[in-house]
Amino acid sequence: MVGFLCVFGHLAPDQHYRRYQGAANQRAAPRDPISKRDRDVPYFAVREEEVMSTVSPANRGPRSLQSANLQTPVVPPLIARALADEGYYKDGPPTWSGAPKSKDAKNTRKRYIKRLRRLSSQFPEAKRLANVLTRCKPRRRCMSGACPECGRAFQRWFVSEIAKLAGNADAADLKSISIIFSKHRTAEDQLPALDTTTMKRSMSETIKDVDGLNWMVGGVDLSLNDDTQKKQSIAWQPQLYAIANADIDPLSKALRDTFSPTIIARRPVQIKECDGSTKAISYAFKTEFVRRIAYRTEVGPPENRRKCWHTRKVSLRAGEHVQAMLWMHKVGFAGRLFLRGVRMTRIGNSVGLVQIKKLE
Ligand SMILES: [Zn+2]
Repeated sequence: MVGFLCVFGHLAPDQHYRRYQGAANQRAAPRDPISKRDRDVPYFAVREEEVMSTVSPANRGPRSLQSANLQTPVVPPLIARALADEGYYKDGPPTWSGAPKSKDAKNTRKRYIKRLRRLSSQFPEAKRLANVLTRCKPRRRCMSGACPECGRAFQRWFVSEIAKLAGNADAADLKSISIIFSKHRTAEDQLPALDTTTMKRSMSETIKDVDGLNWMVGGVDLSLNDDTQKKQSIAWQPQLYAIANADIDPLSKALRDTFSPTIIARRPVQIKECDGSTKAISYAFKTEFVRRIAYRTEVGPPENRRKCWHTRKVSLRAGEHVQAMLWMHKVGFAGRLFLRGVRMTRIGNSVGLVQIKKLE
């Protein structure tokens, strides 16, 4: 029996990997003993390319498994291994102001389980997701992209790894980048169909030959944008927040040439200096999504008032939040993670982000 009901919640991290392996091997020859392979670092290095190069054709393996049963996301082994470190679920470093504590994340998970159950007549899959989140326990983590505890742990792993990369970079070259994928704006009821593959691929294509770009790492997130005051719709808007080690001018040009302004997204590309702080890095992998309401307002001094558009952030309504959670569960952390110029790799018992050496 495969399915949403048995999404890995009861499996230990190594078993996640075996599960992944087992599924991958269904396409090929009979299974090899996994425990032997699991210890084989060079083999792992190959697998990680296959799993984490989210824009390469080699990624078809895991993706095709996902499409076979959309409700059962495959947790790539390196992500499972990163989340096997219970330290990320606790309260040590990294920290930043406003970061949720371990206890907060646990309470949030319980609150979201109740919300999912409450709305399960409207969203039948919500009940099954509630069951997945219910089984999240220390050392038996659910690893769902919708789990507040696993999301917090993954964000803390992400922040610590990028902080290390950023520490090795010239501070002047660190940039915070946000890209609005206007073409992927999705009607409110069409969210399950939103796939991150094409947007990540277009990002990779855009920046692949950019001079002075060493690496870029980020996460895709969503907001539900209410643009009714612009006489537009209410729709889900995916965007990428990333941290890059790059020269600003060539990167800015490449991004602006590809992602042009629209009525709804007048500034689809924003690039700012990044101070490399854990707080700044934490924005690049969000665990909570919001509703953004566009409104017209007046700004400037009394003698020079002018009208412009602003957005106000508010919480998603319960039903919208359930839809967002189902989507986060479906795409998983791997589906939201964007890596360019770095790769996930096993370092001892943990998982790190390392820069890929450029071929001259
Ligand atoms: Zn969890």
